Amino acid sequence: MAIINSIVGAIILYVISTTINKHLPETKQIPRREHNKCTAVVSLIILGISLGIWVIFETIWLFIDFFGIFTTPFFMFGVMTTIYYFLYKKFIPKFGTITKEDLYRSSFLRIYVRFIGIIWTIAGLFITIPLLDIPIHNPDVFELGFYWAISVVLIDIGITILINKFRSDEKRIPKQPLKNAMFSGGLISFGIWSTQLIIFELYLKRVFSLPLYEQDIRVLIGVISCIYVIVFFVSLKKKFMPKAKEESKARIKKVLKAASEISSIAAGRSKDAILSVRDLTVNFYTEEGVVRAVDGVSFDIYEGEVLGLVGETGCGKSVSALSVLRLIRPPGKMERGKVIFIGEDLVQKTELELLKYRGKDITMIFQDPLNSLNPVFTIGKQISEVFLLHMQDELLAATLKNNNGSSIYRLAREWTIQLLKDLNIPHPEVIMDRYPHELSGGMRQRIQIAMGLACRPKLLIADEPTTALDVTIQNQILKLLKELHQKYKTTILYISHDLGIISKMCDHVAVMYSGSIAEYGKIQGIFAKAYHPYTRGLINSIPIIGKQQDRLTVIPGTVPNLIYPPSGCRFHPRCQYCFEPCASNSPREIEMDQEHLVACHLYDPQYKDLAAIAINKVEKESNKDK
Ligand code: SF4
Repeated sequence: MAIINSIVGAIILYVISTTINKHLPETKQIPRREHNKCTAVVSLIILGISLGIWVIFETIWLFIDFFGIFTTPFFMFGVMTTIYYFLYKKFIPKFGTITKEDLYRSSFLRIYVRFIGIIWTIAGLFITIPLLDIPIHNPDVFELGFYWAISVVLIDIGITILINKFRSDEKRIPKQPLKNAMFSGGLISFGIWSTQLIIFELYLKRVFSLPLYEQDIRVLIGVISCIYVIVFFVSLKKKFMPKAKEESKARIKKVLKAASEISSIAAGRSKDAILSVRDLTVNFYTEEGVVRAVDGVSFDIYEGEVLGLVGETGCGKSVSALSVLRLIRPPGKMERGKVIFIGEDLVQKTELELLKYRGKDITMIFQDPLNSLNPVFTIGKQISEVFLLHMQDELLAATLKNNNGSSIYRLAREWTIQLLKDLNIPHPEVIMDRYPHELSGGMRQRIQIAMGLACRPKLLIADEPTTALDVTIQNQILKLLKELHQKYKTTILYISHDLGIISKMCDHVAVMYSGSIAEYGKIQGIFAKAYHPYTRGLINSIPIIGKQQDRLTVIPGTVPNLIYPPSGCRFHPRCQYCFEPCASNSPREIEMDQEHLVACHLYDPQYKDLAAIAINKVEKESNKDK
C-alpha cells in the first residue's frame, strides 16, 4: 500500500507542477523542456524519499501507537509536497539556463507555496481524527468518498469531451476554453465535495451524532455531477470564453503588428533568404552499412522564388527536403548542418516547437497523395483540421466579426469550401464529404495542394508532386501551382527528376548528384550554358521534338551505392572528362558567373592545364564519332 500511495503521490505532484507551469502567462512560464526534466527527476526522488519515510513510521508505529497518524496518506502527501518545493528549487537551475531570479519571476514558487498551505490545512484536519479521538467506525468508507469524488469528476470530464465531440459544428465549444473550464470545474467540484465531506461527515455527523448527511453512492454521483456541471458552465461562460476571445483579439493584433513590421523590413531587404541550408549531412545506419545520403549540402531560397532541386532517383533530393522539416526517421540521422528558416535554426528546436512550423509556415506536398491523405477521414475534415490547428485565433476573430453566432468549426468548413473553389475544384461541397479513395489521382493531388496552401505557408516543399500522375493531369497541376505561386507569392522548393518541369516552374535550380550539389544557378543560366558534365548529361538526355536520333543520349552507368560512395568526385566513374585529381580529391565550389556555382575540377584554376588536356581529349573523341 505504501508503494502505491507513494507512486500515486509522485504522479499527482508531477501533474500539478506541470499544470501550474502550463497555466502561467507565457512570459512567466519556465521553458517546457527544462521544467519537464526537473519535474520528472524530482518526482522520482520524492517517490524514493516518501517510501523511506513511510517504512520508518510504519516500523515505529508497531511499537508506539501515536505514530500511526504519520502514516495517513494526507499527512504523507503534505510531506511530499513540502520536500518537492525545496528539491524543485534546487534542481531546476541544473537543467538549463534558469536562474533563481527567473524562478521567482515565473510566479511558480509563489503559487506552489499556496498549494503547500492548502495541503497542510487538509492534512491537519485529518490528523485531528486520531488526536481528538473522533469515532470513525469505518475510515475506509470515509477515504473512499474522496476516491469516488475523483472518479466521478473524471467520468464527468469524459462525458463533457464526448458530448462536445458529437455536437453540431455550430454548437461545438473551442478546445482551449473547454479544457480550462473542465480543469477548473473538476478541481472546484472536488474541493467543494471534499470540504462538505469533512464538515458534514466528520465533524457534524460523527462528533455530534447529527444525522445530516448519509453517504450514499447515488447521492454522491448526483451531487458531484451537479456541482461539476454548474461550475463548468459558469466558468466557461463567464471566464474562459470571454478570456479566449480577448486573448485571440490581442494575439491577432500582435500578429498583424509583427506582419506589418516584417513586410516593412522585407521591403528594405528583399534579397533575404527565407531558408538557408548549410552543410546538411544525413546518414542512414542500415545493417549493410552507413548510407551517406546527403553530404554537406548547402543552398538558399529567397522570398517569393521557386528553387528546383533536380537529379536522378536516389541522389538525396527528398532526404534533403525531409531534413528541412526534421522528418527523417531512424535509422536515418541528421549528423550535422543548419536549417535556418527566417533567422531561426530549426535543427535546434524541440519537437513541440517544430509543430508550430510544420503545416503552417512550412508545408509539404508529397509524391503519392493516396499514401499521404488519411483514408478514414473525409476531405473536408482533413482540410478543416489544418485551419483549426494552426489558425484558431483567426477563426475566432472572424466569428466575432461576423457576430452571427456561427462557430469556428462551421467557419473552418466555409474556409475549406472557399479554398477548394480557389483551386478550381468542381463541386467543393460534394468533394468535402468524400473520402480520398473516392477521388481520382489528380483530384487527390489538388486536395494535397489545398492542404499545403491552407495556412498560406511561407515555404511550400513540393516533392515530385506530379510524378504519379499522367501527363495531362501533370500539366494541369503544374499550371495550378504556377498560378498559386503568382497569386499568393509563396516560396517553393520544387523537387523533380524532370528537367523539363524544372525549366517551366523554377527561377533557380540546384542539380544534385549522389548526396551533394553539383551545380547551382539561375534557370536561364543553367540551360544556356551548363558547366558540370552531369548537368550537361541531364540536359542532353531530354529528347528534342523534330530532331531525329537513332539512340537517345544517356549518362553511362548508374547512381552509385551510397554505402560505398566513389572517392573524390562521386561522379567520376561516369564522367567522360574524368582526369587525374577526380578520383582522389573532392571538387570545391567554383563561381563561374553571378549566382552560378559549379563543383567540378574542370573549372578549378589549380588544375587548369590538366583540365584543358581532358577537354581536348573528349572533343577529339566526339569529333571522331561524328
Ligand atoms: Fe567529371 Fe572530374 Fe568534374 Fe567530377 S570533377 S564532374 S569527375 S571532371
